[in-house]
Amino acid sequence: MLPSEIIRKKRNGESLTRDELRSFIDGYLRGDISDYQMSALLMAVYFRGMTFEETLTLTDLMLHSGSVVDLSSVPGIKVDKHSTGGVGDKVSLILAPMVAACGVPVPMISGRGLGHTGGTLDKLESIPGFRTNLSIDEYKAVIKDIGVVMMGQTKEIAPADKKLYALRDVTATVESIPLIAASIMSKKLAEGIDALVLDVKTGRGAFMRTYEESAELAKTLVTIGTMMGKHVIGFITTMDEPLGSAIGNWLEVVEAVECLRGEEVPQLMEVTYVLGGAMVMLGGKAPTLSEGILRCRQAIQSGMAYEKFLELIARQGGDVHYIEDLERYPIAEHTVPVITEVEGVIQSIDPVKLGYAAVELGAGRSRIDETIDPKAGIILRHHVNDRVEIGDALAILHTDRSDVITAVRNQVRQAFHIGPYPVTKPPMIQAQVDKDGVHPAGL
Ligand code: URA
Repeated sequence: MLPSEIIRKKRNGESLTRDELRSFIDGYLRGDISDYQMSALLMAVYFRGMTFEETLTLTDLMLHSGSVVDLSSVPGIKVDKHSTGGVGDKVSLILAPMVAACGVPVPMISGRGLGHTGGTLDKLESIPGFRTNLSIDEYKAVIKDIGVVMMGQTKEIAPADKKLYALRDVTATVESIPLIAASIMSKKLAEGIDALVLDVKTGRGAFMRTYEESAELAKTLVTIGTMMGKHVIGFITTMDEPLGSAIGNWLEVVEAVECLRGEEVPQLMEVTYVLGGAMVMLGGKAPTLSEGILRCRQAIQSGMAYEKFLELIARQGGDVHYIEDLERYPIAEHTVPVITEVEGVIQSIDPVKLGYAAVELGAGRSRIDETIDPKAGIILRHHVNDRVEIGDALAILHTDRSDVITAVRNQVRQAFHIGPYPVTKPPMIQAQVDKDGVHPAGL
């Protein structure tokens, strides 16, 4: 069938068969189908959606576009976590060593920044020397030796997702339930896990803005994982303001290290403990979620999670001196405060505006081939419900790009909405999703 016929069929709202989807994905990977044809199909999917059957088929085709890693030689129940993407979300950096310190092996394959959201891979690569481009053999060796590994997609791991992810980022086709579901689950199912915890973000900084859409995405992800024989639990978590204070790659590593050393950054650690607790439970090291959370707290308080992080950095070629002595790292040429000209209570902080502002400062990409400045980003000085006076710094910009400062400063100022009264914030953990449906989180 001609590619244009397949695009037309989806454009008209019809379902695609397995053969049609396969010919499109295979053709795209071979180079017979061009980026513009794939972009048109993605946009048709964005507007017309997919049935669950199509989403499952797409996941399966993307999964088998590469190989599925066999980790059966690694003892224990292997558990990973994946987030649908947020701003300031450095949870993986804290959680992977924390859960590994509880005795649960964590094989983690992460992605790069997408749209306004950051990517764990970019954050890890800001650590001098840290290698994320491991071969599958190295990946297996690292998890076997130290119980945790963090790397990027290789050409063997769901290559169709790797290619599509970059294309979706630049064609405004990220925010689609079937495309997000197939992207996440193809990568995760390829990495050799037994169980998975999903962090499905909801709110103004999430790809899925409403609770209903997020619940739909969570159910789709959990159902696909369950049908593929994995134990999967999802949490719907709030992404209405950036998670923690740092946005930008090295800046986020610093905040993660502070948390690993015991700092209780409020919302960030709440989410980290719940997701980590669920992983410890699925990994068979705690009977309940609350017990799992307790184990995670102990791993932080005892310093074992931090030690595991240092071990991971060293094992993957990173220079631990920069972690042990955070001041060693170079700082951006310009550190510029964003000052408020009004007083009152911060009622909201727009994470999307801040995410794109960080990209402008050099922390992300606006084109596939752009390089990232690891030092660039934003440090928030205040959070929602803080009272501020005229002249207070709302945030500090870090950048080497002097030409963007004025515009970004305005953008960041506009991200803060200041009013007379405090606001009621939604809970960070809004619901838990498993194969039986959506429930209040079992904390
Ligand atoms: N994270 C992914 O891995 N894929 C998406 O499509 C969105 C978030």
